[in-house]
Amino acid sequence: MKTIEMQEAVALCQEAEKMSPEQRGSLREKRLHSLVDYARAHSAYFRKAYKDIGEHYALEDLPPTNKRVLMEDYQGWVTDPRITYDGVFEYINSPEAGVKRYLEAYTAITTSGTTGSPVPMVRDSYHNTIHGAMMQTRLLRQTDPDLMIPVRNKIAAAIFLDPHVSSYSSLLRTKKAYPGCEENILEVSITSDVASIVEQLNAFQPDLVTGYPSVMGALANAQKQGTLRIAPKAIACSAEVLTETVYHALRQTFNCPILNNYCSTEGGEAAMSCSLGKLHVNDDWVILEPVNQDGSPTKVGEWSDGVYVTDLTNYVQPIIRYYMEDKIKIYQEPCSCGIALPVMEILGRTGENLTVGGIEMLGVNVEYLLQYVEGVYALQLVQRGETEFEIRMIPESEEKRTTVFEEARKILEDFFQRNGCPPVKFIQSQEPPIHNQKGGKLKFIVKDFDGR
Ligand SMILES: [Zn+2]
Repeated sequence: MKTIEMQEAVALCQEAEKMSPEQRGSLREKRLHSLVDYARAHSAYFRKAYKDIGEHYALEDLPPTNKRVLMEDYQGWVTDPRITYDGVFEYINSPEAGVKRYLEAYTAITTSGTTGSPVPMVRDSYHNTIHGAMMQTRLLRQTDPDLMIPVRNKIAAAIFLDPHVSSYSSLLRTKKAYPGCEENILEVSITSDVASIVEQLNAFQPDLVTGYPSVMGALANAQKQGTLRIAPKAIACSAEVLTETVYHALRQTFNCPILNNYCSTEGGEAAMSCSLGKLHVNDDWVILEPVNQDGSPTKVGEWSDGVYVTDLTNYVQPIIRYYMEDKIKIYQEPCSCGIALPVMEILGRTGENLTVGGIEMLGVNVEYLLQYVEGVYALQLVQRGETEFEIRMIPESEEKRTTVFEEARKILEDFFQRNGCPPVKFIQSQEPPIHNQKGGKLKFIVKDFDGR
């Protein structure tokens, strides 16, 4: 198993930023070859997939892969034969998840979402140390590098209190790593209403607030109105796209650095924000290839249809040219902040809020609740009026359509009722979800009516 000390990882991250793009290119190539050699030697899947690849190859010569193909052969994908699909889930669902290591060596998380089966991801300390070093040296460069360590700083995380979700499991790990500092960490459930989140944050007075941009937007409103009264050193957003609107609202309201990153359960932290709010690609450790629908490279400066992700730090469950649906754009022009790493933009994955009868609720909560509805590949909520919704779906089979609708309706009715909304009408649609033209990912909540 590959290992690295934090000090060395930090030094590598800092050195790479002083390199020219060409120098980083050769560093990347060296790291890619070492990962590919390892994957071929230890993963049956990659051995087969790369059987026609000789000693001399470029990244583009490696056949791309995707979730469907890899999930068909999970056992062949991982490089440690002790890791099994059932074993990872057993660990993730156990009370030890996030506290003890899986097989005493690994951390494990899983993708969530309303479509398809979840992908369990196992990571070793090599991956976690390097990604931790990138956080320290890059994400936190505008602020206290110890901001995410709960010794001198108080951290509040507005998240789903579910150990399957990576933000919560990493919070549990942080708690475990700093015994005696537990009172410096506050986890706020975003399934509670905004007023209760505000109350808890006022009492806690955090140095750092982390959470979904859609939640942060609601908090900016509360701070503007004067109900929320906190003075954090920084705000860190994750999981969804941080729109310019939310970024500027947060920046103006809280007057502190707004940290953001582009990451995925499969590929890790691919890009981190600078002081100007732009995302810089960590291209020494993670390779992003913007591609068109047919897999050909997207022209520089144009929006891609998807992206191939390669995580050069994951030797346990290799992610090499792994297809993701995010639409991205990578710029050649340097950023005026002075950081040499390339700037990227991403579309899609914005979390929208819902307003029903004048009551604003966090859209992610609805999505989260509905992801447990069985028998459906995709669900979408189309708001047709102030208190009228159409439920669109792709059911597993036509027979299941009505059952899925009834279950989703019941969950939503309960949720709206708990939030004090007036009665809501639900329409069962025969149509599939409407695809957002701009973002690759399906938009979960669509507003389709005038006058809000
Ligand atoms: Zn910048």
